[in-house]
Amino acid sequence: MLHMSKSRYCQAVQCPKMLWLHKHMPDAFDDSAVNQAVLDRGNAVGDLAMGLLGDYVEVPFGDLSEMIRRTRELIDAGTPVIAEASFAFEGLFCAVDILKALGKNRVEFVEVKSSTHVTDIYIHDVAYQYYVLTKLGYTVERVRIAHIDSGYVRHGELELDQLFTMEDLTEQARALQPEVEKRVAELAAYMAQADEPACAVGGQCFYPYACGFFKYCGRDLPKPNIFDVGGIQLRTKLANLAKGIVSFQDIELKKALKSDKLMQIQHELHDLPPAIDREKIARFLDGLSWPLYFLDFESFQPAVPLYDNSSPYEQIVFQYSLHCIEEPGGSLKHREYLAQPGADPRRGVAEQLCRDIPRDVCTLAYNMSFEKTRIKGLAALYPDLADHLMNIHDHIVDLMVPFQKRWYYTKAMQGSYSIKFVLPALFPDDPELDYHNLEDVHNGTEASAAFEKMGDMEPEERERYRANLLKYCGLDTLAMVKVWEKLREAVG
Ligand code: SF4
Repeated sequence: MLHMSKSRYCQAVQCPKMLWLHKHMPDAFDDSAVNQAVLDRGNAVGDLAMGLLGDYVEVPFGDLSEMIRRTRELIDAGTPVIAEASFAFEGLFCAVDILKALGKNRVEFVEVKSSTHVTDIYIHDVAYQYYVLTKLGYTVERVRIAHIDSGYVRHGELELDQLFTMEDLTEQARALQPEVEKRVAELAAYMAQADEPACAVGGQCFYPYACGFFKYCGRDLPKPNIFDVGGIQLRTKLANLAKGIVSFQDIELKKALKSDKLMQIQHELHDLPPAIDREKIARFLDGLSWPLYFLDFESFQPAVPLYDNSSPYEQIVFQYSLHCIEEPGGSLKHREYLAQPGADPRRGVAEQLCRDIPRDVCTLAYNMSFEKTRIKGLAALYPDLADHLMNIHDHIVDLMVPFQKRWYYTKAMQGSYSIKFVLPALFPDDPELDYHNLEDVHNGTEASAAFEKMGDMEPEERERYRANLLKYCGLDTLAMVKVWEKLREAVG
């Protein structure tokens, strides 16, 4: 008998082979494709939303048959709202996020999502639950999705009814019933195959979610291939793949990409020396003025707004690193700020930033749109600091430009102009500039996750993370200083 949960059903909608591999070759799954922070966020949002339909009783997670038994017990006892209400029909299991029992086997349910809009896969998700419930004899009167309303701004206590938006998907779920029935029947035969089913890699490996079996399924692709090209959109990669343009040789032969993207291909295939446009780099450097500041922010994006005057998924800056050189030949100075977890970090960041960066000075950021947008947000939030913050904002220059425009390119940059590629390409043997040598925090995602969890850590662990966050962000701006020095070296 086919055994399946609602998440496995949705995977089968994306690609049935995913389901087959999970069952027959689970070791081929690449765990690094799982974003634990996203899963944790989904769970936290799910817990919060349980109260959306009023007082509820939650079915504790555990043994599935026990969850089903407890659900039956609660329904029989007349419990009006049940969270994680669990059902199974011929091996098809589902735990309904919020079930409202209307009496006489009539129910309605709400599926909770931590995203800010409804996507097609959510409709398949609720259609599957609708299918299981109706097969068990329930009359499903209404199906809704509750998702986060990105326009919500917190003022005081969280207002669940405003944080979440409900969308009625009853008609869509009903319309999909024949498709669910057909897919379930086909999957039973598909899953019973002993031999690995054939399935070429394609768009289904990335939409709606990146598949953790891609390394396995794409193992016969030439190396490097179209998926290794930096700076082009996934849909361009997939369009080329569909045309049979896969290897770098194919791409060069067919001139399949624009000339700046072909640069990566040519450097890789012909082992070309670094391409350096000294004139353009010199002009860029001449546009900078002393003193020079190098700024980098770290932020996190809580799905549920934690502070007043913040919205779901708003980027909240909690830390920055700032290196500074006052004059040509001057010493390198460093300042930094890292908020304490718990309270809103934004005011502290804004005040300290105004103390650390004087008006009218040239501040370099790498991929400046991030820093500029955050500073603009702080200026809007704190009118008393807005003048100074906008002055900093208006004097920011993007250190990424020479790499983005390919004025400086080496094969080791692998088509990318992100500092995480540019830095090791320019300084391949410098352990001081190697992010791998850091502890706990090696990238922005880990920095966000660390800050989000720091409030719950024991003091000793919290101090360790604090020190490692400071090291990580400090390396970001030190890296910028080194990159700037390299550009100066390049133009003599
Ligand atoms: S990598 Fe692609 S083909 Fe392989 S299981 Fe995943 S979605 Fe299917």
